[in-house]
Amino acid sequence: MSLISEKKVRFMAKKSSKKKSVSKKINKKLRYAGTSLLSLLLIAVVSFVLDVTGIADILPDLNDSNIENDVNTGNNSSTQGSNTDVKAPDSGKDTGTNNNSGSSTKPVITDNVEYNYEDLRVHFIDVDQADCIFIECGGEYMLIDGGNPETGDKVVNYLISNGVSTLKYYVGTHPHADHIGCVKKIFANFEVENAIKSKCPTKSQYEKAFLSGIENRNSHVITPGMDEYSKEMTLGNATFKCLTVDKEYDDVNAWSIVILLTYKENKFVFTGDAIKLTENDILATGVDIEADVLKVGHHGSYTSSGKKFVQAVNPAYAVIMCGENNDYGHPHAETVATLEDEDIIVYRTDKMGTIVCTSDGKNLHFTAEKVK
Ligand SMILES: [Zn+2]
Ligand SMILES: [Zn+2]
Repeated sequence: MSLISEKKVRFMAKKSSKKKSVSKKINKKLRYAGTSLLSLLLIAVVSFVLDVTGIADILPDLNDSNIENDVNTGNNSSTQGSNTDVKAPDSGKDTGTNNNSGSSTKPVITDNVEYNYEDLRVHFIDVDQADCIFIECGGEYMLIDGGNPETGDKVVNYLISNGVSTLKYYVGTHPHADHIGCVKKIFANFEVENAIKSKCPTKSQYEKAFLSGIENRNSHVITPGMDEYSKEMTLGNATFKCLTVDKEYDDVNAWSIVILLTYKENKFVFTGDAIKLTENDILATGVDIEADVLKVGHHGSYTSSGKKFVQAVNPAYAVIMCGENNDYGHPHAETVATLEDEDIIVYRTDKMGTIVCTSDGKNLHFTAEKVK
């Protein structure tokens, strides 16, 4: 009797876990509600079975296993740091006035994600109040920004532990410290085949370091503008375009390179610190910018993520990269409200640490872990 019950419990736990696999945005709201309902139902049934059979003491805590994060078991990389038990973020009770909460933040999907070398994996590396996105596909690597100088070692170690020695692309979205501050360390540690830099005329010390890194590594320079607009570049089996238009701006953030990345049926939009003006200029080109995942502009500031832009991207998921209790109050309540209005599932590095999205070209899986 006890053995049969145990087998049944394990089957149900497996089924519950499978149900948490999230595919694309088709009926995402319904699916999420359905998944939550099913999970609750299963937990209730499991609790009942455990109570009745009295085997609760000899089984692992099934509830906890549903909200812990699994180590990625890619054949091309190792996992960095300890896989801490990142619990589900605060849920609910957000009235929209508290910038540092967010009821649209849902628990991270926690399946044991297997990474196939040919597939796409996007790492939103937690670099505090800054941006750093590492992308791998088919053994080729791309880095979009790298954060401040202080977190440079963390980024370098993260990349090395993922087997990186050469970056096919290193993108500096715009010359602010929280985006290209660790540029010296990147060029010092990795070959950079192609350096993609913004046309922003402002020359910060980091921009100068970017230029000398390009010279030292003899990197091919790509400066997106109207000429490069339609140029499609490849990363393994993925392709990407820089959507930045050929225009002059007063605000350095406005010059941010915006990237649309496609891997089979999945699409991602990365925005740097692009402001609403940039977003509108991109929309005006008529480009189809619809995507599954949006890296929210400018750390969730109200200066980005205009309603029209967010609706045009129409993502199922949004990732906000910002620091815990940051001085800017990011993400701003306006941005959180815009994302909530569109029923977008929001993941935040300030709450979850490094967020990794794995795509097999159709399905997306998210994991998160605190990496020191
Ligand atoms: Zn900026
Ligand atoms: Zn920034």
